[in-house]
Amino acid sequence: MTIAEKTSLQTSIQPFIPLGRSGLLPALHAAQKLYGWISEPVAAEIAQTLRIPLADVHGVIEFYSLFYNEPTSKHVIRVCTDVACELKGGDENLRKLCEKHGLKSGPGGGFYQTTEDLSLTIEPSPCLGLCEHAPAGWEVDEGQSSVAEGRMRMERPSSLVYGSIRLLIANCGSGTTNLTKYGKYSALTKSLGMKPDDVVNEIKASGLVGRGGAAFPTGVKWEGAARSESDQKYIICNADESEPGTFKDRVLLIDDPHKTLEGMLIAGYAVGANKGYIYIRAEYLYIVPVLENAIKETQEAGLLGENILGSGFSFEIEIRVGAGAYICGEETALFESIEGKRGFPRIKPPFPTTHGVFGKPTVINNVETLCSVPLIISKGAEEYRKIGTEKSPGPKLFCVSGDVTQPGLYEVPFGVTLREVLDMAGGVADGKELKSVLFGGAAGAFATSEHLDVKMTFEDLREVGLPLGSGVVMVFDETRDMRKVLKSLGHFFAHESCGKCYPCQMGTQRQKEILERVAEGTALPDDIIRLQDVGWTMTDASLCGLGQTAAGAVLSAIKLWPEIFETN
Ligand code: SF4
Repeated sequence: MTIAEKTSLQTSIQPFIPLGRSGLLPALHAAQKLYGWISEPVAAEIAQTLRIPLADVHGVIEFYSLFYNEPTSKHVIRVCTDVACELKGGDENLRKLCEKHGLKSGPGGGFYQTTEDLSLTIEPSPCLGLCEHAPAGWEVDEGQSSVAEGRMRMERPSSLVYGSIRLLIANCGSGTTNLTKYGKYSALTKSLGMKPDDVVNEIKASGLVGRGGAAFPTGVKWEGAARSESDQKYIICNADESEPGTFKDRVLLIDDPHKTLEGMLIAGYAVGANKGYIYIRAEYLYIVPVLENAIKETQEAGLLGENILGSGFSFEIEIRVGAGAYICGEETALFESIEGKRGFPRIKPPFPTTHGVFGKPTVINNVETLCSVPLIISKGAEEYRKIGTEKSPGPKLFCVSGDVTQPGLYEVPFGVTLREVLDMAGGVADGKELKSVLFGGAAGAFATSEHLDVKMTFEDLREVGLPLGSGVVMVFDETRDMRKVLKSLGHFFAHESCGKCYPCQMGTQRQKEILERVAEGTALPDDIIRLQDVGWTMTDASLCGLGQTAAGAVLSAIKLWPEIFETN
């Protein structure tokens, strides 16, 4: 490393020195922006500057798929080859693009190629959160991010928002809503006039449950953190939206960033926290400047910082960018990532409300959950509960993708049927018949036309064995070969398992191998038994939600279409 190179690296990572170990991911991002990849001398310099063992720096680089430790271009094109994009020719797109640049394309799952002159890297990517625009791509050139919607290249993705109500998406669909248009945080102002306990009680009374997939009661979570004694508490916005088929948080954050910020501030006031993090996936890099600008607007208006609106309540927000690890959507893995470590989930208990990020009481909510908070406070819990059903109150966002006429983000009250949602989306595309709907994403389960009249509520879906998950409704028409879809899901989980516990580490690999045989028509006679065995073991014995749900869609497919698992 030359002196000039060393100086520019030092300048880039300087701002992260005060963060210590927690500054490792930001420092690695800064170094990679500078060089395109992280060479041994660069890793050593970062280790020395942040006072972290070099082995730990390497461990972190290798854990995250968007950090590179071999020569990689500063110009990277990632082509989504996950389920929704595969349906629309993602694999073919990747092949053609590689061919055009004289590179060999490979199968999905981490394979990437760089031109000899380091002018371009092309790689397949897991879900980019652009499913309604499939086939999609994401390009980063010298740190500048853009997306591909089919053949169109855009600075930011378009937001396709529809539905029968417009509460959560009221400010979405026509660019970013700035503070002047959003208004001066009336729900926060109202909260600051209430006792913190009363704010918690209002959220409890609303019946709001987490919208990220786990559906844990938000008010109960807040109450746990509020009761924890500590000099420091945190609010974390989980914007690591990586479940294949999910893109709602992307739309909420880029079009209406203030709603999330206001939700975080109200949460902070309610539980006694004065620091918040927004942990956003790196694939949403184009949203970071939008969030930075919204934070700046809020600070300038006196709505963020010291003594907000003269209330004595102070709060600050920091943005952290992930680096390509689905597991970091799991709350404790996300804490580890903020702390500058590999994203391995922690064993629970203790729970985040007492021992969260940096070992302090933490409330972690996803974007849609936080966006529901200002709505509840403004309307009051009683009014809010008039939307939806008694056991599933409120509005819900569904990410509709795949073989439908009008893919997009749909807001509806809980309780509409799957048929109604599909009708809003113009039905199955090209007049074809419905084969299946993947509910809840890769970690979900398949539905068929038998389920069209099931109400989309937690309780009704649970009764028929379908998870609501993160709100994915991915449609497959009658011509689709479900074996290919299952193979894609198998690849996804094998790639994303963090490897901390054996049932998932080995189970996802075995599941992938069997699903490959099934898709290739070379299944062994008792592969269906093996698949079930592996699936049940992962579900029962895995440490975290990833392993516990990695076989959900496969097991549901075995019940619906046992014949496809037989040898041709
Ligand atoms: Fe890691 Fe999978 Fe175990 Fe979760 S279940 S800790 S992702 S190996």
